Amino acid sequence: MNVFVLNCGSSSVKFQIINTDLDLFETDADHMVAKGLIEKVGSKEAIFTFESVGQPPVKGVEPIADHREAILKIKKWMETKGTKIEGINSFDDIHAIGHRVVHGAEKFAKSVLIGDEVIKQLEECSDLAPLHNPANLKGIHAITEIFGDKIPQVGVFDTAFHSTMPEEAYMYAIPYDFYQKYRIRAYGFHGTSHRYVAYRYRKINKLPKEKVNVVILHLGNGCSITSVKNGESVFNSMGMTPIEGLIMGTRCGDIDTGIVEYLLKKEIGTFPEIMSILQKKSGMLGVSGVSNDMRDIEKAADEGNHRALLALKMFAYRAKRYIGSSLAEMNGADAIIFTAGIGENDTIIRKMICENMEALGIEFDEKLNDQCFKGKCMKISKEGSRIAVWVIPTNEELLLARDTVRIVKGATKEL
Ligand code: AMP
Repeated sequence: MNVFVLNCGSSSVKFQIINTDLDLFETDADHMVAKGLIEKVGSKEAIFTFESVGQPPVKGVEPIADHREAILKIKKWMETKGTKIEGINSFDDIHAIGHRVVHGAEKFAKSVLIGDEVIKQLEECSDLAPLHNPANLKGIHAITEIFGDKIPQVGVFDTAFHSTMPEEAYMYAIPYDFYQKYRIRAYGFHGTSHRYVAYRYRKINKLPKEKVNVVILHLGNGCSITSVKNGESVFNSMGMTPIEGLIMGTRCGDIDTGIVEYLLKKEIGTFPEIMSILQKKSGMLGVSGVSNDMRDIEKAADEGNHRALLALKMFAYRAKRYIGSSLAEMNGADAIIFTAGIGENDTIIRKMICENMEALGIEFDEKLNDQCFKGKCMKISKEGSRIAVWVIPTNEELLLARDTVRIVKGATKEL
């Protein structure tokens, strides 16, 4: 089966075509046959990059008015004579579409086949994720407008993996009726990534699902930590929205809410302006003043930039505290797993986070750590470490494709 995996942002359309005829459920081998990205959708200068495996990328700039036009542009590229995609001649060779949907609220604890009722429910939970869900819906509507119900569509939710969190983990200590009336609670995010990594760990170590007790750090542009107990998520550091928790590229993570009131009193900006600062100008960028990219920050720190070094120390410190609280909450764990751009590549940050935790049973191996980057999947703790440390590259698109195939084929069992 060829699955078209679609990730729509407010002005971007990202896709992968994944061939799932291979041994999809037992390996993490790459099944991607093509991928692409269109940025600045809705402008006269939309930028597109399409790439079929083994072929040079096709790039360009042209007006693309909306998500529907963006999908038509991808379709046209797929069907152009010079484009060679393994197993694909036209969009007719696509058997199913998997949409990344950010917020499933309490309505979607699992991936679902998309129909009118699901679209209605998605529209209802859009106000919980105003930056993401309306864009995801645009993708669903665009596909429906172009293909009708010819191709089945599946929604895979970032929040779904965390639907197993217990009440005491997801409730905020604010008046209870705010939860009853407005569903204010933590939902957790990056669920597709955390679920994929937990699944890979289980396969690598040949464990049944209920024997998976791990702490996963997804450290990319967005960062979150998940406690996985008996194979299920019991905590994620992101909250009702993805701003809570760890320090991120441009997001502040946990802060005292009194700061917002104080900034308002000081007339730094309107409430939306202050929120925008906390989302887009804070985190590693805000503290370092250099960049939101770890590579730039590490270079600056190496050259003696105090704020860059401080940002790195703060990032590692916050992550350490969260690891500690996950271990306390779960009465220990078998492994700590790093994933995503920073988690998979950044030897410096991994060292800063894992060093000096021997008392907790974490014996980190610096040599192994230094050998692990660029997609390597390996254990980086010393033999005999009570808590192992792993690096397992994430692959959200692959999990999206897997779920899409399962749902379309009518399987009910979750991976
Ligand atoms: P992601 O959101 O998972 O794509 O992660 C993106 C982030 O990963 C970038 O902003 C960088 O901070 C970080 N990153 C990617 N590659 C490296 C690397 N080789 N060394 C350090 N950090 C990296």
